[in-house]
This record gives sequence, C-alpha cells and structure tokens, in this order.
Amino acid sequence: MDRCDILVRGDGAVGAVAALALSRAGFDVALLGAAPTPGGAPAAADPRSYALNEASVSLLRSLKVWDAIPDAARTPVHDMRVEGDLPGARLDFSAWSEALPQLAWIVGAAELEGALREALRFAPHVRRVAAELPAALTVLAEGKASATRARLGVRMERQSYGHRAIAARLVADRPHAGLARQWFRSPDVLALLPIDQPVAGHGLALVWSLPDARAQALLALDAAAFEAELMAATDGAAGTLALAGARTDWPLAIGYAEPVCGPGWVLLGDAAHVVHPLAGQGLNLGFGDVVSLVEVLAEREPWRALGDERLLARHARRREAPVRTMGLLTDGLLHLFASEQPLVKELRNRGLGLVNRLPPLKHLFARQASGR
Ligand SMILES: Cc1cc2nc3c(=O)[nH]c(=O)nc-3n(C[C@H](O)[C@H](O)[C@H](O)COP(=O)(O)OP(=O)(O)OC[C@H]3O[C@@H](n4cnc5c(N)ncnc54)[C@H](O)[C@@H]3O)c2cc1C
Repeated sequence: MDRCDILVRGDGAVGAVAALALSRAGFDVALLGAAPTPGGAPAAADPRSYALNEASVSLLRSLKVWDAIPDAARTPVHDMRVEGDLPGARLDFSAWSEALPQLAWIVGAAELEGALREALRFAPHVRRVAAELPAALTVLAEGKASATRARLGVRMERQSYGHRAIAARLVADRPHAGLARQWFRSPDVLALLPIDQPVAGHGLALVWSLPDARAQALLALDAAAFEAELMAATDGAAGTLALAGARTDWPLAIGYAEPVCGPGWVLLGDAAHVVHPLAGQGLNLGFGDVVSLVEVLAEREPWRALGDERLLARHARRREAPVRTMGLLTDGLLHLFASEQPLVKELRNRGLGLVNRLPPLKHLFARQASGR
C-alpha cells in the first residue's frame, strides 16, 4: 500500500509551510486539504493582511515563497503608533531607532496563499492527496475547528471573547508612509496596517475588533455609513478612508489544545492554539511551530521513529513558553483596555506614556514583536 513519511492534514498557511519545510528537510510528504463541499461556491479571497515578523519572513524566504509574493502585497512597516483611550496616551516605535530595516512586514493573505500554492506545485517531495495515507507521523494543521483533533479526543480549552474582528482593505487620501497604527478604544481595538494594495502608498488593511453586537451593527451599515464610523473612530488621523472591497468578520477566542502531540501525531498552528489578533501573532506562532518541529525531527536519534511520542514531546516543550506568553500578553492587554474603571483607565494610559519614555523597555518590546 502507498505510504509516506509525513501526512500533513490541512493546507492553510501553516499546513502548506509545514509541507514545504518538511519536504526540504528530506521527508516524503503527503498534503491533504479539506474535501470541497459538494455544490459549494468557491471560497472568496481572504481580504486579511498579516503582520509577519522577521522569523516568519526568513522561513518564507528559505522556502522560496517570499519572492513569489507580489511586491505590492508585502509592505514593510517602518513605524508603529499605539494610542490609548485618553488624549495624548501613545507609544511610538520606529525601525530607525531600533536600528532595524523594518519592524515587520504586512502581507496580503490571499497573495501569500497564492505563492504557497505555486511553491507546492514545484516542491519535489510533496504530493497532494485526496485521502488519508498511512504515515509515520501525521501533522494536523486543520485550523481552530480541527475535526481530527476532536476525533483524537484532544481537549481545546477555548474561551470566546464575545468579540468579532472586522477585516477589510481601505484606501486613504493620505500616504501610509509605512506607519502601522493601533487604537485601544475600550472595548474595541482598531488597527490600520500599511499595504501597497490596492493603491501603492495609500492602501491600508483594517482589523477592527469589537463586541459582537456592535460588530454586527457595523457590518449591517452601507459602505458610506461604515466609512463615517471609521472616520469617527480614528478621528481622521489616517486621512479620509474609503472601503476598497468587502468586509469580512471572524469570531475571536483564546484557546490551547492539550496535549498538542501524541503517538504518531502533532498539532500545529491554529489547531494547537488560538490568540486574539491584536498583536498580529497567530500565524507567526504557527510558523514558529513549523520551525520547531522540523528542527526536532532533524535532530532525532537515528533509531527514533518520526512519530515517537517522546520526540514530539520535545517539540511541545519548546513551543509551550512562546505560545503561552503570547496568549497571556494579548489576553492581558485586552482585559486591561476593556476595563471601564477610572483608575485602571488612568494607569493604562500612563503606562503607554511611561513605556514611550523608556527606550530600553521599548527596545525590548520592538525586538520581541519583530521576532528577533
Ligand atoms: C482578523 C484576523 C487577523 C489576523 N491577523 C494576523 C496577523 O496580522 N499576523 C498573524 O501572525 N496572524 C494573524 N491572524 C491569525 C492567523 O490568521 C491564523 O493564526 C492563521 O491563519 C492560522 O493558520 P492555520 O493554517 O493554522 O489555520 P487555517 O488558516 O484555519 O487553515 C486550516 C486549513 O485546514 C483545512 N482543513 C480543515 N479541516 C480539515 C480536515 N479535516 N482535513 C484536511 N484539511 C482540513 C482548512 O480547509 C484550511 O485550509 C489573524 C487572525 C484573524 C482572525
């Protein structure tokens, strides 16, 4: 019977990158995507853009995916401004003062998907399969609602925030100048990320997370009314903003699968952990999982099988701290900025100003976020 070294289930960004990286490490890989829904309409292009850190970009470069993403769909972030919910409370980061070429890159989700699809077509040791193959190791990258994870009886400790993120592409009448902006508006968090699509120098990716009811109300508005809400929320600071496509929304939650591996299987990406997108780190964490798994498999003792539980537990131990730290950070920030208590409000806004005046602390945050 036909078999392979590693079966990757799930062909989202994490599954695709895992398949490419594992094949580059010399394994015979089979990649299994979700079965298409009979009679279902083709999925619409994902309008999101991801903030990718240096570690993720180097991984994509090493897999020859990075250069296949169109230039307009990967825009460097040179500056970042985070604003609180009291006047003047803000935190500024700049690549220049951190002596970095850029703080992060903003990459179109659909274009990244396209570049991954192309790379997979030419990857010598990856076969696309339509059904499960026997394998020494199964990598589960089926996303947050992984059915195979459920079949394995793995518990996903998941807590909904009762919030949704609205994502859309925008065009501003003012150049973005490589500046990523984020407003903590209690309880919503709004980010405008620079991306040279659809208009070079003027494109922005919106990620606006809000309580469910408010998000639904905003989604029900026509484009002009939605744009007016955006202008009010940003106080016109990024110029006049116009929608450049459809708005889509995602429910938000935090969750960790426990355990993330067992005999012959391992969970990667959103199948293993889900965090709030306010720090733009979910996919970066998933790519970090891939790097860790490839390293652990490459360093294994010659007699150890790929699906050896002890081997996979090494990977799980390496990933625990970065994943939990990011979960705590995003969750902590969200709760800190959701509080209506006047004292908490005063302190969080002062905290932003304080960090802004402490270059070593800022430096630490900037380095952490850029994945260096
Ligand atoms: C609004 C928003 C903004 C975000 N912004 C950022 C950001 O700026 N930076 C960042 O790093 N992260 C960001 N994230 C997080 C990021 O989107 C996710 O972490 C990432 O997409 C997870 O990728 P994945 O491949 O693990 O899962 P998915 O993208 O969910 O892919 C899972 C794949 O598995 C397939 N599948 C499902 N079930 C099966 C099955 N049974 N068999 C085979 N295949 C199956 C699915 O069809 C899908 O293709 C954001 C998230 C949201 C919601």
